[in-house]
Amino acid sequence: MARADIAIVGAGAAGLAAAIFSGEAVGPSGSQSIVLLDGAKTIGAKILVSGGGRCNVTHEVVAPTDFFGNRRMIKNVLAAFTVDSTITWFASMGVELKREETGKLFPVTDRSRTVLNALVERCRELGVAILPDHRVTKIARISDSSAGFVVHHSHGVLRASRVILATGGRSIPKSGSDGFGYELARRLGHHVTPTVPALAPLVLDDRMFHKNLSGLSQEVELTTVAKGKTLDARTGSLLWTHFGISGPVVMDASRFWCLAQEQGEPAEVYGNFLPGQNQEQVRRWFMDQTREHPRRSLGKTLAQRLPQRFTESLIQHAGCDSQTAIAQLPKKDRDQLLSLLTKFLFPIVQDRGWNYAEVTAGGVPLEEVNFRTMESKLVPGLYLAGEILDCDGRIGGFNFQWAWVTGHLAGQAVWRPQV
Ligand SMILES: Cc1cc2nc3c(=O)[nH]c(=O)nc-3n(C[C@H](O)[C@H](O)[C@H](O)COP(=O)(O)OP(=O)(O)OC[C@H]3O[C@@H](n4cnc5c(N)ncnc54)[C@H](O)[C@@H]3O)c2cc1C
Repeated sequence: MARADIAIVGAGAAGLAAAIFSGEAVGPSGSQSIVLLDGAKTIGAKILVSGGGRCNVTHEVVAPTDFFGNRRMIKNVLAAFTVDSTITWFASMGVELKREETGKLFPVTDRSRTVLNALVERCRELGVAILPDHRVTKIARISDSSAGFVVHHSHGVLRASRVILATGGRSIPKSGSDGFGYELARRLGHHVTPTVPALAPLVLDDRMFHKNLSGLSQEVELTTVAKGKTLDARTGSLLWTHFGISGPVVMDASRFWCLAQEQGEPAEVYGNFLPGQNQEQVRRWFMDQTREHPRRSLGKTLAQRLPQRFTESLIQHAGCDSQTAIAQLPKKDRDQLLSLLTKFLFPIVQDRGWNYAEVTAGGVPLEEVNFRTMESKLVPGLYLAGEILDCDGRIGGFNFQWAWVTGHLAGQAVWRPQV
C-alpha cells in the first residue's frame, strides 16, 4: 500500500496553502511524504476564475466582522496569519500584490494564473506530490487511531499518518467542489450544518422590469427581513441583469435570503434606491421640487438623483407617466412612488444556484476543530481547512484569506506530536 506522512485532500486554495506550510515546516528532506490529492483533472479551477480572472487574494483589512460563523473562533483563527503575513508569503513566492481603491488586493499582473502557478511551483520545490484526477471516495481511520488513515481514491489507496481535509464547499460543482467533502467529514463523525449558496446572484420574478435594465449598476441599501426581524442591512452596488439582481451588495446579502429559505422562514429583501435617506426625507425633497419646479416632468425630477433608465422603469412599474408634471401627480401615485423608491420589495423567486454562487454558507462547525491547529476535536490526526468549515466571508478577498490562514494553521500543525 502506498504511504505518505500527510495526505491533503483537495488542491484548492486551502489545500495548496496547507501543502506549502507543511512542506516548509518539515524542510525539503521530509516533504516528499506530503501528497496532495484532487479529484479534478486540472487543479486550481476556482483560483483561475476568481476575481474575474484576476484573483482577489485578500483585503487590506480583514476583521472577524467580515465573516459569518462563530466570530470568536474566527477571530482567533484570523490572528494566526494576518494580511501582512499573506502579502509577505506571496512575495516570497514571487507574487507582488497591489491594493485597489476598494481595499482589495490583487496580483500586480492582474492574472490569477500568476497566483496558481506560484502556489504549484512552491509545492514542487518542496517536493509535495500533487495528484490530480485522484478523487477521494473514503477516508477510514486505522483502528488504533494513532496509526493514521487509509485514504481510498479513484486509483487505489494511500495510507497516511495525518489527513488534511480541504475539499471546499458546493459552489461551482464542475470545478470538483461538489460537496462530497462534507460526506467524508460526516462519515468520520463530524456534523455539517445546513449548506446554502452565499455570494450568489438572485433571480427575480420574470414579470419584473429587471431585463430592461440589464447591465446597469446603482447604489442601493438592501435590507433582508424575516418574521419582522432585520437579518441584514447593507449598502453597495447593485447590478441589474437579464435574470434579476447581482453585484456586491446583492451577493453579500444573498446568504441571509438563502439561509432563511432553507430554514423555512422565507425572507423579504427591500431596496432603498436613495441610500441614507428615509421615506420622509425623500418626500420632503420631492415636495420642495414640486414647489420649485412644478412643471418639471416626473421622469426628469427623479433622474436628478437616479439613473434615467431605472427611473423610467420604476415609473412605469408604478403605473405612472414619466412626462407628467410633478405638480400634477396625484398624491396616491406620489406616495406609491416614494414607497417604491425607499422600500422596494424585490420579487425574488430563487437564488441562482450552486453554479453561480461563489461560496458556501454552512459546513463543519468551527467548534469541532481546535482553532490553534485546525485539528479535529473528534478525530485525532484529521485537520480541516478552507471552505469546508462553517465560515463564509463577504466579497472582497476574505474567503481566500480564510483559505490561506486555515491552510497555514493545519499545514504547520500536522508535524506536531499528538497530545
Ligand atoms: C467565480 C468565483 C470567484 C471567486 N472569487 C474570489 C475572490 O476573488 N476572492 C476570494 O477571496 N474568494 C473568491 N471566491 C471564493 C474562493 O474561490 C473560495 O472560497 C476558495 O477557493 C475556497 O478554497 P478551498 O480550498 O477551501 O476550496 P476549493 O477552492 O473549492 O478547493 C477544493 C478542492 O477540493 C477538491 N475536491 C473536492 N472533493 C474532493 C474529493 N472527494 N477528492 C479529491 N478532491 C476533492 C476540488 O476538486 C477542489 O480542487 C470565488 C469563488 C468563485 C466560485
